[in-house]
Amino acid sequence: MKILVINSGSSSIKFQLLDMSDEAVLASGLVERIGEAEGLIKCILRPGAADELTVKKTTVVADHKSGMRLAVDILSDPRQGVIAARGDIDAIGHRVVHGGEDFHQPTLLTADVLAAIEKNIPLAPLHNPANLDGIRVAQELFAGVPQVAIFDTAFHQTIPPHAYLYALPYELYEKHRIRRYGFHGTSHKFVASECARLMGRPLEELNLISIHLGNGCSMTAVENGKSVDTTLGLTPLEGLVMGTRSGDVDPAIHSFLARNCTMDIEAIDEMLNKDSGLKGLCGLNDMRDIHQAIANGDKRARLALDVQTYRNKKYVGAFMAVLGRVDAIIFTAGIGENDEVVREMTLRGLEPFGVIMDPAANNQRIKKPTLLSSRESRVQIWGIPTNEELAIAREAKAVLEK
Ligand code: AMP
Repeated sequence: MKILVINSGSSSIKFQLLDMSDEAVLASGLVERIGEAEGLIKCILRPGAADELTVKKTTVVADHKSGMRLAVDILSDPRQGVIAARGDIDAIGHRVVHGGEDFHQPTLLTADVLAAIEKNIPLAPLHNPANLDGIRVAQELFAGVPQVAIFDTAFHQTIPPHAYLYALPYELYEKHRIRRYGFHGTSHKFVASECARLMGRPLEELNLISIHLGNGCSMTAVENGKSVDTTLGLTPLEGLVMGTRSGDVDPAIHSFLARNCTMDIEAIDEMLNKDSGLKGLCGLNDMRDIHQAIANGDKRARLALDVQTYRNKKYVGAFMAVLGRVDAIIFTAGIGENDEVVREMTLRGLEPFGVIMDPAANNQRIKKPTLLSSRESRVQIWGIPTNEELAIAREAKAVLEK
């Protein structure tokens, strides 16, 4: 079974084609700058194989439909492609950011499901319309091919009301569904399952803290295999310090800025999402650049690292309290997999709670699942590469086999 995974953003489409007989990646690509003066498509065919081939094209990509067409042309190019025709694709898995309270599971796309995703647009105005664009284009280009929506929020639908409610007038929840939803669910679920496999224990028996540190960052408390709390909230802004997103702030900062700095709500929203986080603190949002700047004596870069890792540690402590017993802590995503300094600083000082890192094991970039804790650590510490595309393809396959 060949499954095409589509992650459609406002001006980009990430795609991956997998052969699910052995979970091999047949192609992996990205169409960028859709709707701009010059677009870019890059696709790696047969990654890792002896005949791996990278195809790159710069051309105008007017809209998502032209972008998807370009991708399909590369995938089915008779000289070098990986499929003979569009009909070679058995199913499509779509990443959808916000499923609201409507979706607890990956779901076969029907007209009703599309309407429900549309209804949730107010909860994710930047993401859901772009996801819908990708779905509509794929439905047109691959008529008759089953399509499955995999929601970032679905894994967190097991969070209980005392953890998902904000202490606001209850009518706001009743009327507008204002609550914590959480995101990165596909990634947290994937690394939690991988961790259970590696520990040789059923996921349903395990209490885990999953830490996804990439450009976006979030932490999830997993109790008996289920998400019971997470740091991202109504939108992907709350909680940890991210590349350009603030994470937690005092909500009164909004009114302070409006009254004293002549900023309107749009400008505040933009600042919190795009000009805050690591970038806001030191002007750099990539952790590699931050380490370079620290090496060059940049004090603000050092401060940004301190603020991020302190916030990480604070939430690890909070989720240890939520779970009581913790079997393992997992690091994943760009920073979580590659940055031993961030991992070490996040867990430094937690030794009295049974969290003890093995410095030698930690001192590496994680290319495959790796145990990072020392033998005497009560809590295992794992670095596990996330693979959202594979997770989406597996979920889509499971829906079709049901
Ligand atoms: P992601 O969103 O998971 O793709 O993660 C992207 C982020 O991971 C980048 O913005 C960097 O901050 C970080 N990152 C990637 N590679 C490294 C590395 N070798 N060392 C430190 N941070 C890294």
